[in-house]
Amino acid sequence: MTAINVLISGASVAGPALAHLLHRDGYRVTVVERAPAVRGGGYAVDFRGAAFEVLDELGVLAEVRAHDTAMRGTALLDEAGAESGRLPAEAFAGELEVPKSDVTRILHRITADDVEYLFDDSIVALTEHGGGVTVEFEKAATREFDLVFGADGVYSRVRRLAFAPHEQVLHHLGMSGAGFTTGNFLGLDREGVLQPAGNTAVYLFSAGDPERLTVSLSFATDSPALDRRPRAEQQDAVRTAFAGRGWQVPRLLDAMAQAEDFYFASTCQVQLDRWSNGRIALLGDAGYCAAPTSGMGTSQALLAARSLARNLAAANGDHRTAFAAYEAELRPYVAENQARGREAVALFGGQASEG
Ligand SMILES: Cc1cc2nc3c(=O)[nH]c(=O)nc-3n(C[C@H](O)[C@H](O)[C@H](O)COP(=O)(O)OP(=O)(O)OC[C@H]3O[C@@H](n4cnc5c(N)ncnc54)[C@H](O)[C@@H]3O)c2cc1C
Repeated sequence: MTAINVLISGASVAGPALAHLLHRDGYRVTVVERAPAVRGGGYAVDFRGAAFEVLDELGVLAEVRAHDTAMRGTALLDEAGAESGRLPAEAFAGELEVPKSDVTRILHRITADDVEYLFDDSIVALTEHGGGVTVEFEKAATREFDLVFGADGVYSRVRRLAFAPHEQVLHHLGMSGAGFTTGNFLGLDREGVLQPAGNTAVYLFSAGDPERLTVSLSFATDSPALDRRPRAEQQDAVRTAFAGRGWQVPRLLDAMAQAEDFYFASTCQVQLDRWSNGRIALLGDAGYCAAPTSGMGTSQALLAARSLARNLAAANGDHRTAFAAYEAELRPYVAENQARGREAVALFGGQASEG
């Protein structure tokens, strides 16, 4: 019997985790990734609950644990910078927190020998027909696959091509933020400080590299598309939002202008009525991003990969049955995570909202 031939778009968390499990189950797996190599992102991600079982099933639990940032907690500061309270480590670091670059590097490594990776490429067209899906790429030649999975994040190309345009499914939570690193001028040691003031919040922490401070400057905004604008415009929006703020804010704004690792993220959720369309299915942030404020995106991506692999195995490869079972199994968990993502926006300068 010839192996079922699948394509996964996205080589971050959900993509390589699914690739590993499907290869183990006898599938032929190709992963296409837009970036020229696996990329991390300057932030750390946390793991909670059943995600540990998936890390174990992937055979990487001990290795991932070895990169624990071992955060000790976060001090809440008033506007003058005096401590007004404390949040325990679990609030932002879950049960285990690891730099995202370590997670993606490890997941890539365990699949690299068995899975074909097409880096620096992207799907441009998907045409489903009776027996499979014809996939056109930006660079690679057109190919046929039995199944296609979109694990390509909040701005998923697979979702846009096979489900709906971004504006129909992306829900901005009214908050955006800039992130970057700078020298650890506060001398923080595996701890964070959070200073909410009005519609803004400064969150600083040092983890992993004691020389560096990770900075997040978040603020309420009703401009969801800012994260697709040029960097200068994003930095202007940050400066406007934080104008007049005291404490270390002027120094942080200066550091932002110099930062080489600056990124900007609008806090969005993805809401879709269906996570599959024929032979094409979505997983992770592409299908149901819960927003970074949920702290659940990485766990969710891992659980999604396991659920898809298990349900495909249980349905003997019948994708319709498997995709329906995957969705039924994961919907309640995702709904909980998304509610959590909406609530937590209030901690970072936004306003908590209902679903
Ligand atoms: C600032 C910030 C802080 C966060 N903090 C946390 C946290 O503390 N805890 C937590 O659990 N989660 C956190 N998250 C969220 C977490 O990173 C995601 O939920 C998780 O990475 C989802 O994994 P994924 O594999 O579904 O998607 P992603 O990690 O978004 O990966 C998508 C992949 O697809 C690739 N891609 C995109 N477009 C294409 C294309 N057209 N073709 C091919 N490839 C493409 C991308 O390059 C990327 O490699 C945070 C996110 C951000 C932005």
